[in-house]
This record gives sequence, structure tokens and C-alpha cells, in this order.
Amino acid sequence: MIGWTEQQIMIRDMMRDFVEKEIAPIVDDLEYNGLPPYEVLRKMFKTFGMDEMAGASFDKKIAREEAIARGEKVAAESEAKKVEGPVTEEAINAAGMELLPIIEISRHCQGLITAMGVSVGLTGGAIMSKGSLAQKKKYARDLLTLKKVGAWAITEPNSGSDAFGSMKSTAKRDGKGGYILNGNKTFITNGPYADTIIFICKLEEEGVAAKDRKLVSFILDTGMPGLEQSAPFKKMGIGSSPTGELFLSDVAVGHDRLMGESEDGYGRSGAKSTFSAERSGVAAMALGLVERALELSVEYAKTRVQFGQPIGSYQLIQLKLAKMEVARLNIENMVFRYLETRAAGEDFTLAQASAMKLYAAQAAMEVTTEAVQVFGGAGYMREMRVEQLMRDAKILQIYAGTDEMQVVAIAKDLLSRG
Ligand SMILES: Cc1cc2nc3c(=O)[nH]c(=O)nc-3n(C[C@H](O)[C@H](O)[C@H](O)COP(=O)(O)OP(=O)(O)OC[C@H]3O[C@@H](n4cnc5c(N)ncnc54)[C@H](O)[C@@H]3O)c2cc1C
Repeated sequence: MIGWTEQQIMIRDMMRDFVEKEIAPIVDDLEYNGLPPYEVLRKMFKTFGMDEMAGASFDKKIAREEAIARGEKVAAESEAKKVEGPVTEEAINAAGMELLPIIEISRHCQGLITAMGVSVGLTGGAIMSKGSLAQKKKYARDLLTLKKVGAWAITEPNSGSDAFGSMKSTAKRDGKGGYILNGNKTFITNGPYADTIIFICKLEEEGVAAKDRKLVSFILDTGMPGLEQSAPFKKMGIGSSPTGELFLSDVAVGHDRLMGESEDGYGRSGAKSTFSAERSGVAAMALGLVERALELSVEYAKTRVQFGQPIGSYQLIQLKLAKMEVARLNIENMVFRYLETRAAGEDFTLAQASAMKLYAAQAAMEVTTEAVQVFGGAGYMREMRVEQLMRDAKILQIYAGTDEMQVVAIAKDLLSRG
């Protein structure tokens, strides 16, 4: 894939039109005045039929799983997904549908994508990959169609990059088939408003040392006794993505809330495959930020006159614009490669996804910082929007694994090769 297909360009233009009409006018309310992001996201889902598509795809998957449960012979999912022969344009178009909204919205309000991605991709996605059939039916459809808001909670006050090693949250068997949950989670996207929460913790077992405890997770509903959701934090950027804390104090849950309804249902591999999907989405967000920063910078360089000439005539400014274009091309190429891989029915490895995330996040930060510089004093003012792009870009180097953690993942993969 070396360029967007005709159909993708058509959808991109429709999406851009929607963002400019429905989102751009309310960015200040979303970013600074506490307007929650969910209504406008639902409007987008409805406008583009994304809720119906997600619902139909969910129903198809469930029908397949029910057929398997009845003992009917169905091709394995990996076989069903695998594509023989060259990748078709239809498959490329379908893969592009996942990323085009991310790119287009990030041009104006990246936080909306963070809120949507965590609810649909992380929370809904985790239940679809690790939940039992009953759990998928009960929770996942509403998350995938954005009828309900989801949060995915692993980070704790003393456990961030070392998410598994330092985790203190616990589940204790209650002796009647259920569990008692305790712990604090922080920096949780959608935490303040989530209807459905995935709480990741360690199983406390008699005679098992803390470091060897099993990782388990539970699906919780807002309002459960003992569960408290904080108000949103004030943040540097992505104000449109509410981030908060969760406090669990002796929350009693039945076995039916244990992910996969098995203590082995959500091991480290579960969390790791979630990381991989999340990292790929970051590159699409970076592309949106970089595209917009470059467009605004080129326009300003042509029109801002100093020393009797447009600033774009000065080579120091030209170098900034040229470097921005190189970064844009590189990120776009990585996104195309990702789309073609998905269209072939495959996935990026964790190391590939990490490499893409590391590059895209750093490039987005550099490009948006330079965009502020091109605008001079005006760039420092909210009205010009480039300072928002810069603040929105910074988070890409921190969440979904910091830059440093991506380096560790890439190097580990390189050094483990035979
Ligand atoms: C806006 C926002 C939204 C978020 N949403 C969610 C969410 O929905 N769910 C969730 O569970 N979490 C979420 N997080 C948490 C996020 O994933 C963590 O902040 C991130 O993983 C880093 O952890 P930390 O903040 O504890 O930093 P730390 O791990 O304390 O790191 C501090 C610094 O030390 C570096 N460092 C740490 N270990 C090493 C090492 N071994 N080698 C080199 N350098 C190292 C880090 O790279 C970083 O620069 C969110 C965070 C933010 C800011």
C-alpha cells in the first residue's frame, strides 16, 4: 500500500467535514470546560454507521462462538482471518476504517480518540479477546457500540512502567466461589465516567509469594458497593479525555465477573496483546497531529511577513517545514504498512508495534514543538491551536508504555533472536 484508496479518501473527506462542523466548534468546551466527550463521539458513531457496523460484527462473532459451543464444526478463527493470495482493496479499505477516524479527529482533538480508544479498543477489546461467551454478551456489545463507557485499569500510584512487578491491588477468594477486591488505580482514562471497568490485580493465595501471584482481572459496574470513581484530574493536554482514580475497598464480586470465568483467563499475555493494539493506534494519532501541525505551519510561513518577506523565504524556517514533511511521510508509511499487515489477516508483533509507537510519538512531539516555533509568540496563544497540538502530542510519549519502555521492548526482541 503506497497511498490511500479512492474509497478511503472519500471517507476521510466525509470524516473531515464532520470533525470541522461538529467537533472543532466545541473543542474549547471539551478541552477546558469539562464537557464529557461521549455525546459527540456517539454522534460520530451514528453519523457513519459505526455503531451498527460494530454491532453487526459483534453479532457475527457471537453466532460463530455459539455454533462452536453447540459442537458445530467451524474453521478456527486464525484460519477464518487468514487471507490467501494478494491483499484485496476491500480488505485494505476495511482496515483503513479503523484508523481514519483516529487520524481525522486527532487533527483537532486527540483526547476524544484516547477516550474512545480506551472504551472501545481496550475495554471492549479485552473482553472480546479474554472474556467468556456470557461476559461478551453481557458487556462487550454495549462497549463496542459506545452505548456504554469503559475503563481499563492497570496503573497504580506505585506501579506504572513496572505494571506487573509492583502491583498491589488484590483479589482474595471469599470461600463461596467469589472474590473480595482491594486496591487503588490511578491515571485511568474514562475512570470518572466509566459504566464498565476492567480491574487488573493479583490473586492472593496462601503460601504463594507476592512475586509469583497470578494476574487476574474483573469486570466491574459503576456504583458497586466499595467502588469509588474520582473526579477528573486537571492535565497538561487531552482535556477532552477524562482521567481519574479508582478506589476499591472490599468490593465483593461473584465468579461471573472474573475475566474468562477462570483464574487463568487473563494472564500477562492478555495484557500484552492489549498493549500491542494500543501502540498501533498511537501512530495514527501522531499522524493526525503531524498533518495538522504541518498544514498550519506552511500556511503561516506563507503569510507571516517579517523583515519585508514571508518567513517561509528564510532557510531556517524552510528546514523546519522540510523536517516536518519527512516525519509525516515516515509515519504515514508505517501506518500504511500496518494497514496492509492487518488486511492480510495478520498483526504487528509487539516489537514492531513498539518501534512504530516510539518513532511516531517522538516525531509528533518534535513536529508540534517546531510548529509552535514557526508561529513565534502567536504559537504560544491558544487561539492558533498549535500549542494544543504540542500538549496533545506529549502524552503519546508517556501512555501505552513510555518511550523508554518501547526501547526496552524493541531491544529485548532484537537480543532474543537466534
Ligand atoms: C493521560 C493519561 C492516561 C492514562 N490512561 C491509562 C489507562 O487508561 N489505564 C491505565 O492503566 N493506565 C493509564 N495511564 C498510565 C500510564 O500508562 C503510565 O503513566 C505510564 O505507563 C508510565 O507509568 P508512570 O506514570 O508510573 O511512570 P514511571 O513508571 O514512574 O516512570 C517514570 C520515568 O522513569 C522511566 N522508567 C521507568 N522504568 C524504567 C526503566 N526500567 N528503564 C528506563 N527508564 C525507566 C519512565 O520511562 C519515565 O520516564 C495513563 C496515563 C496518563 C498520563
